[in-house]
Amino acid sequence: MRVNGPFVITRVVDLEGHFRAPQFLLPDATPEAFGATRTFRDPRFYDPERGSLIMSFHSLIVQTERSRILVDTCVGNDKHRPMLPEWHLRKGSYLDDLAAAKLPADSITHVFCTHLHADHIGWNTKLVNGKWVPTFPNAKYIMHRKEVEHWEHVRRTSTEPANHRSWDDSLQPILDSGQALLVDGDHEIEPGVRLMCLPGHTPGNCALCLDDGKQKAFLVGDTIHHPVQVERPHWSSNFCWDKAQSADTRAKFLGDVADTGAWIIPAHFAPPSSVRIVSEASGFWYEA
Ligand SMILES: [Zn+2]
Repeated sequence: MRVNGPFVITRVVDLEGHFRAPQFLLPDATPEAFGATRTFRDPRFYDPERGSLIMSFHSLIVQTERSRILVDTCVGNDKHRPMLPEWHLRKGSYLDDLAAAKLPADSITHVFCTHLHADHIGWNTKLVNGKWVPTFPNAKYIMHRKEVEHWEHVRRTSTEPANHRSWDDSLQPILDSGQALLVDGDHEIEPGVRLMCLPGHTPGNCALCLDDGKQKAFLVGDTIHHPVQVERPHWSSNFCWDKAQSADTRAKFLGDVADTGAWIIPAHFAPPSSVRIVSEASGFWYEA
């Protein structure tokens, strides 16, 4: 996908296809409520025969004249995630796929995790001789300070295995290697490339915003998990830290970008994976 001007965005998939029933993700998406949406009849994003959402877990690599910024590192290989069988001890071809896209891991200059859920930090590290090491040896890993502080607090205080225990295998090695760059607020990576905080899904949830002066794109992570949340912005996920704030943030964001022509590229939209938001009398809709 080429965004007009200096930015080129490439999608590299870790896994995609059938996921789970709508209510696994969105508690308000009962069979009746989900069946009443237009997205229910969109075969790109829902399979009515299997009653399953169709989703993707992908990285988006933004190439500018000076940088290669990899956004969200998906689930990863060899991670111990027994609570979700499809994430557990995976042996995917992600690194080969990056290389095949002419974006080998050692060429990435920045990694940006929109938030620190296990499915956004997995390829931060890879297993080498029994040890977790940074997958991207030449990259700075950009994370919002508030997000890191939140998960560090959860890890210290939770009696449950929080966030699939991903801190130990996917974050601590990055902090130890000195590659983490913790940022506050609307950090600018370079002209036209900046972070924007969209709290709610997690406390420090952020988007990457691209603006070449003509066209804008927003890589919004899990601010919108599934296209049905465009027409039902108040449907927050079971995995949102603050469901009410997540819904408010999503509705405001959709209002801000609707009818502007900006590309919205979330972390889990199945192909075509990028949409434009249009406003309608009843709310919002997406043009994929
Ligand atoms: Zn996610």
